[in-house]
Amino acid sequence: MDKYLCPECGYVYDESLGDRHEGFDAGTQWEQLPDDFCCPHCAVRYKEDFTRVAPGDGPDAEAAGM
Ligand SMILES: [Zn+2]
Repeated sequence: MDKYLCPECGYVYDESLGDRHEGFDAGTQWEQLPDDFCCPHCAVRYKEDFTRVAPGDGPDAEAAGM
């Protein structure tokens, strides 16, 4: 399960959680979202603008590096 970050407002779509408010059940994958999906928070950024949050990012990535 991946997460996708809105570069505009910082909203994160978590595949494992979905977004009930938007009608996406938990486990809905990013690829399953409609192409015209836009950020539920700022409505400025569209699906293509989101950046994938790598699971390795964060404290764990440092430990795994080098
Ligand atoms: Zn946003």
